[in-house]
Amino acid sequence: MIHKDVIIVGGGAAGFFAAINIAEQNPNLTIAILERGKEGLQKVKISGGGRCNVTHAEFIPQELVLNYPRGEKELLGPFHQFMTGDTIAWFENKGVPLKVEADGRMFPESDSSQTIIDCFLNEAKKHKIEVMYNHVVKAFEKEGVSWYIKTTEGEFTTGKLVVASGSNPKIWKLLENLGHNILNPVPSLFTFDIKDERIQDIPGVVAQHVTIKVLDTDLCSEGPLLITHVGMSAPSILKLSAFGAIELAERDYKFEIEINFINHSFQDCFNMLKEFKHNLAKKTVFKSTQFDLPKRLWQKLVLASEMNSNTRWADLNKQQLENLSSQLTQAVFKVDGKSTFKEEFVTAGGVDLKEINFKTFESKLHKNLYFAGEVINVDAITGGFNFQNAWTGAYIVSKSILE
Ligand SMILES: Cc1cc2nc3c(=O)[nH]c(=O)nc-3n(C[C@H](O)[C@H](O)[C@H](O)COP(=O)(O)OP(=O)(O)OC[C@H]3O[C@@H](n4cnc5c(N)ncnc54)[C@H](O)[C@@H]3O)c2cc1C
Repeated sequence: MIHKDVIIVGGGAAGFFAAINIAEQNPNLTIAILERGKEGLQKVKISGGGRCNVTHAEFIPQELVLNYPRGEKELLGPFHQFMTGDTIAWFENKGVPLKVEADGRMFPESDSSQTIIDCFLNEAKKHKIEVMYNHVVKAFEKEGVSWYIKTTEGEFTTGKLVVASGSNPKIWKLLENLGHNILNPVPSLFTFDIKDERIQDIPGVVAQHVTIKVLDTDLCSEGPLLITHVGMSAPSILKLSAFGAIELAERDYKFEIEINFINHSFQDCFNMLKEFKHNLAKKTVFKSTQFDLPKRLWQKLVLASEMNSNTRWADLNKQQLENLSSQLTQAVFKVDGKSTFKEEFVTAGGVDLKEINFKTFESKLHKNLYFAGEVINVDAITGGFNFQNAWTGAYIVSKSILE
């Protein structure tokens, strides 16, 4: 039986960040990370397409929390303790400067997630944190005020147990056995599968600013839309997949969306089309793209409005004008399934937030049991917010363990 002052279950983003911060602030504590894999930080490695989108350049806590479909209310206090600016400073202090991209996402200047991994591994070594690979945690139990942990490679005891196991069903089961409520895990951040003539054969086309509603729900989002080989993606869709993670799972990912491609009302659009009919009378509708839409998308929507590629503006009847206005401002598409968004995905669900003290990230049910990262019922839209949750939780765990 090995005893450590602090044991961290999971050698991912949250586990390493917690361990390093605990060690930095109290070099006398013995700390071990128990990691089931033969390497840790595997998600960091593949994150952000191999570049690791570390955080997001949003510096107002009240604004930052809006990116968390689950955790918005609970993270406000924690973000006042540790958020984006602290993350940037933390990495910069370790010799890892971050840079910001036009959309606010922040990456290491190296554009390589390996820089983050190297930083964590070096820091762990420097602070003599024992990272025990191939240690699959099988059980943990309370023994008075301490904890007993059983792994495939041996048994441990500790005064402080930090669970940073990400979205691992077996660890959730162990926590359930301890009386914790685990909210049903479902995927978040996915793209929509859509088979429809209007988007057939035009993958790669981007509409810069659309509004999308999921019909028969309150779900709505705005932003860029990307047509893919199998459907639709980009921030407008990913936001819906995050905020609708539970509702869309309940519908088995079969639902309808309504897209406004041009952000004008049906009536305003109809009036504008009437002006085009007058001003562009001799031109074909098909060839005179309007509203800054990509040409190929415009042409698809024109053909879906009961006209052909030779129809001239002057020849449009009221019905055709209405059809085109409808395609541009309230086009309905049937979603039938989802696909993985390869740049980032995350699980909604996890330890019930009501059972966590957000001043310390300690369990309200069990003393000396702490959580950090994706294991809790917090998740965010794409853009670096999921890692920020891991850094913030892990940092506060480190503070509370010291106190
Ligand atoms: C492809 C992809 C790309 C992503 N890109 C980004 C991005 O760019 N920006 C962003 O903000 N978020 C991104 N995310 C989300 C982000 O990776 C997670 O939110 C984050 O990794 C959560 O950190 P964590 O430490 O809580 O969990 P994890 O990183 O999943 O780490 C948990 C660790 O616990 C270990 N473990 C689990 N069970 C046991 C057990 N029984 N015993 C021992 N060890 C165990 C696992 O092996 C793992 O190493 C991405 C996710 C994916 C899948």
